[in-house]
Amino acid sequence: MINITLPDNSVRQYPVGVTGVEIAKSISEGLARNVLSIQVNDEIWDATRSISMDAKIRLLTWSDLEGKATMWHSSAHLMAEAIEMLYPGAKFGIGPDIENGFYYDIDFGNHAISSDDFPKIEKKILELAKEKQNFLRKNVTKSDAIGYFTAKGDEYKIELLAGLDDGQITFYESGKFTDLCRGPHIPDTSFIKAVKLLSIAGAYWRGDEKRKQLTRIYGITFPKQKDLDEFLVFLEEAKKRDHRKLGKELELFAFSQKVGLGLPLWLPRGAALRERLEMFLKKVQKKAGYEQVMCPHIGNVELYKTSGHYQKYGESSFRPITTPVEGEEFFLKPMNCPHHCEIYKVKPRSYRDLPVRLAEFGTVYRYEQSGELHGLTRVRGFTQDDAHIFCTPEQVKDEFKGVMDIVMLIFKALNFKDFIVQISLRDPENNEKYIGSDENWEKAERAIMEVAEERGLNTVIELGEAAFYGPKMDFMVKDALGRKWQLGTIQVDYNLPERFDLEYIGSDNQKHRPVMIHRAPFGSMERFVAVLLEHTAGNFPLWLTPDQAIVLPISEKYQEYAKKVLNLLNNSEIRARIDDRNEKAGKKIRDAELMKVPFMLVVGEREEHDGTVSVRKHGQGDLGPQKIEDFINLVREEMKNELGEIN
Ligand SMILES: [Zn+2]
Ligand SMILES: [Zn+2]
Repeated sequence: MINITLPDNSVRQYPVGVTGVEIAKSISEGLARNVLSIQVNDEIWDATRSISMDAKIRLLTWSDLEGKATMWHSSAHLMAEAIEMLYPGAKFGIGPDIENGFYYDIDFGNHAISSDDFPKIEKKILELAKEKQNFLRKNVTKSDAIGYFTAKGDEYKIELLAGLDDGQITFYESGKFTDLCRGPHIPDTSFIKAVKLLSIAGAYWRGDEKRKQLTRIYGITFPKQKDLDEFLVFLEEAKKRDHRKLGKELELFAFSQKVGLGLPLWLPRGAALRERLEMFLKKVQKKAGYEQVMCPHIGNVELYKTSGHYQKYGESSFRPITTPVEGEEFFLKPMNCPHHCEIYKVKPRSYRDLPVRLAEFGTVYRYEQSGELHGLTRVRGFTQDDAHIFCTPEQVKDEFKGVMDIVMLIFKALNFKDFIVQISLRDPENNEKYIGSDENWEKAERAIMEVAEERGLNTVIELGEAAFYGPKMDFMVKDALGRKWQLGTIQVDYNLPERFDLEYIGSDNQKHRPVMIHRAPFGSMERFVAVLLEHTAGNFPLWLTPDQAIVLPISEKYQEYAKKVLNLLNNSEIRARIDDRNEKAGKKIRDAELMKVPFMLVVGEREEHDGTVSVRKHGQGDLGPQKIEDFINLVREEMKNELGEIN
């Protein structure tokens, strides 16, 4: 008999060779019907695999992320089986599960394939799923494995095999399909009740642009049709909120092939919006004792050799630029930190000067493969709302508090209510991996955790996820559709102060190293605006939105009055414009709704006579006629509520 420890720490005895499904059955029939895989100590296994030693286990179902992953990876196999039947000779690369579903990279040979083929493949997948095919795990020798795929003519699998050691190779067989795979898999294919193939894309084999482009098919499966229906509604909503689409419709930003891939162009409305975000943060930072600095977009390669960024970006990013006469080498700035270190060093610093907080909206450039670029979230040039705090080890806690206050103000003003804080600490077993003294690490780690606790934040602690140069805190927000986005970061750094030989004179008259804290509450302006667009669907808070109001004269006769209204609004610093096109009022209202203008002010004879505007609020409808001054006050009040103390 073996001892099996369940998640509630109760221990049960089972015969040697018991499987997850059998353990589930001993608990309840219902659980047994739903178990997709099992966590055995630290590994995820097939629920049908024999367990022959004492173990701590967790039975995984659709409500567990790992359970979903097992289902989706199994679905990738099933899709491959369907494709092999429909397109003989297809060869397979890799087919992992991903955050929402799975994909498989496939070489279709001479078959031309498009999303038009999806219904046919989906039908086949469901047909095979009903056959209740088991996933059979088999240990194979490397030479047998190579033999199998050589006979099949799948060079991709043979290449993958080259990287594996004999003794660690397993095949999974389901129906007529055999795959090189580590597993785990679901007990049988009948768990898959609904399938949707989502998209098709080109993907270079092993991510290498010099190698063959395979066809990547993305899909998702569910244990119930109802789950798929709900997912499709979510997908529709996500499509409507796609920041690339909204950015174009709302005339915020654009891309031009001629300017270059991954280099966003901010249009007037977008640039003004971004400027409002910057002004907001500058105001907050000024209050918090930050000083603005400015740096050029390039720096001498020696700067980045000192900082260590040359080793990181020198080979894999943009090539250095050389001057024509002196042959000096410059690098596009990948990070602002080295420049700020040099600013710190401009004069001797005493403990009385600390903390020094240097802030800059600094634009940086990093190479991304063209296939990886995506709207404003993956770009080659972006502006960080960067700042570096240089302080004593004792000041770390207060500085963290200060940065967190800023992050909270931002989340409030932009209506991010749901977020978690991820704290990345050292791996306690591997202290020698990290630079900086134990004492300072402990101090900083304790400070970060205390601050999170004092603020009552929803916190996840990740041991071993800290960078070698310091612990950090990341903010993940959940948007209106429940999707998680990583935004701001606060990072402690013991490395750059060493590399740049930064010092301050302490109260003991001795030289000391300051601690450096990197922080960017928005992350980058590009990414932040993208997330904001997807979160709000373009319905920005009033203080931020491009046009706060639009004046809609119902005919040409009321143009003069409309202009008068506009003047009053503009004089009160309300952003507004007139739609003076020769269109019907209904059409003007519909267009203003599409541009997500919060207030539409309809003016005609009665309004002119009474000195009023008829107010319509976006998404809410008619608020009735109001005196212009009353409307101005309404806007001011609403902005005050949004911005709180920052106003
Ligand atoms: Zn597999
Ligand atoms: Zn930095």
